[in-house]
Formats: sequence, structure tokens, C-alpha cells
Amino acid sequence: MTAAPTPSSSAPLLSVHDIHKRFGQNEVLKGVSLEARAGDVISLIGSSGSGKSTLLRCINLLEKPNAGRIVLGGEELRLKADKHGELQAVDAAQLQRLRTRLAMVFQHFNLWAHMTVLQNIIEAPVHVLGVPREQAVETARKYLERVGLRGVEDRYPAHMSGGQQQRVAIARALAVEPAVMLFDEPTSALDPELVGEVLRVMKLLAEEGRTMVVVTHEMGFAREVSSHLIFLHKGCIEEQGVPTEVLARPKSERLSQFLKGNL
Ligand code: ADP
Ligand code: MG
Repeated sequence: MTAAPTPSSSAPLLSVHDIHKRFGQNEVLKGVSLEARAGDVISLIGSSGSGKSTLLRCINLLEKPNAGRIVLGGEELRLKADKHGELQAVDAAQLQRLRTRLAMVFQHFNLWAHMTVLQNIIEAPVHVLGVPREQAVETARKYLERVGLRGVEDRYPAHMSGGQQQRVAIARALAVEPAVMLFDEPTSALDPELVGEVLRVMKLLAEEGRTMVVVTHEMGFAREVSSHLIFLHKGCIEEQGVPTEVLARPKSERLSQFLKGNL
């Protein structure tokens, strides 16, 4: 007899249901759903313009979807349509809570240029979460170490390599102790020789059991590190499944073409 799964192990940590998004007449997401359970690493691939960034941005409401539901840790974000037909959070405090539980890492790092590395990392813990400064500094040091950076606390982002800046951005995301981390092409802006150091950190986070949704063009990472792969095409999920299987034997002609570099 098999034991019934416990609710905590079977319930998804993040559910995104049937997200629709249009910009004017341009329907960019046409009903996209995904689910991440604790420890899942979901890779999101697709051509430029297929809606990958918009999907990530809709998940934390940086972009307002026209329809859809977002549930994090069993708590559904309460949304209502405004006069433009875009969904707004009903409760600002709930949105704030959702955002601090979903940390985002951007292609262009988005570190604050006028702040040191340490200030960048402790900003949200201290000013949004109300963590005492000393504790936030300790946490910042812990995560800087985790991403392989030491002695950089007082440096300014502009004086660091792209790979170092992106690792600082990852440490900053970790510092809010998020439930789910969202990565939008975290290595696309890097010189080729700096990609590896960032991917290694992301692999480490995956091995620690962190829950991640990663938009990426790094097929090696998608194949080896992620537990689930989603191929987005023109705002729809065209194909998804176990990365090794999907990448080795794509069923859809479009995915096949994409993987050959033709799409
Ligand atoms: P991807 O990340 O897969 O390259 P995006 O999500 O950035 O794709 O973009 C999907 C489509 O939405 C593109 O056609 C893009 O031009 C359009 N788009 C994205 N953001 C905006 C915006 N803020 N205003 C208008 N159109 C947008
Ligand atoms: Mg994008």
C-alpha cells in the first residue's frame, strides 16, 4: 500500500493559472499556467518575443495580467480588474508580501549604482521586512559567501565584473529568504567567460533545494539542472516535460526548429 501524499509535499508552492496578457492589440500571453512544488527548478525557454519575461513579470505583478490567478504557498493573490481590464491587487499589503516571497534576478542585474554591495543587499530586508540592520548584515555576508564573493561589501557595482554583479544580485535575492526565485535570462548580458560562474551558483541553489523559475537560453543548464522544462511559443506553452526527454525528443516541430537555432 502506498501512503497518501501529505498536503505539504503534494501542494504546489507556486501556481500560476491561465495568465492572459495583452499590450494593446498584441496578445502576448494566451492562457499560460505553471506549477512549482518545493525544490522544483523550472526552465522556461522560447524565442525572443514569445512572452517569457512578461510571464515572469506577471507572476509578481510587475506587469498586470488581463486574466489569471496566482497562488503562492496556498495563498491566492486577490485581484480585481481595473477600467483597462488589467488585474490589480486588491490588498497592497498582500501584494507586498507576495513580492518579498518571490525574488527576481534580472538580465541586467538591476543593482542600485549609488549603493555599495552591502547596501544593495540589506536594503529590502531592513526597509521592507524590518529586519534589524545587524542581522541583515550578517545574512548579507552569509549569502555573499554562498555566491563565492568575499570582501566586496564596500564596493560599488560599477567596479565589479558582470559575473560578480550578477552574483551580488543573486545574494540580494537570497537575502529576503524568498519562497521562489525568478530568474530572467540571468546570464544573457554576460561575456561568455563569465557565464559559468553564475551558472555554477544557480546550480548550487538548485542542489540546495531552492524553488526556481528560470528563463534561460542555456540548454545545458536546462537539461542538467532543471526538473521541468517549458517551451513557450507566441504566448502559449507549446511543449513541456522532463528536460532530458523534451530536449532529446521534441514532439513539436516548433521546438525542434527552436533547438536547431532556426526559430
Ligand atoms: P521574451 O522575454 O520571450 O523575449 P517578452 O515577454 O519580453 O518576450 O515580450 C513579448 C511581447 O510583448 C513582445 O512582442 C514585446 O514587444 C511585447 N511587450 C513586452 N513588454 C511590453 C510593454 N511594456 N509594452 C508593449 N509591449 C510589450
Ligand atoms: Mg525576455
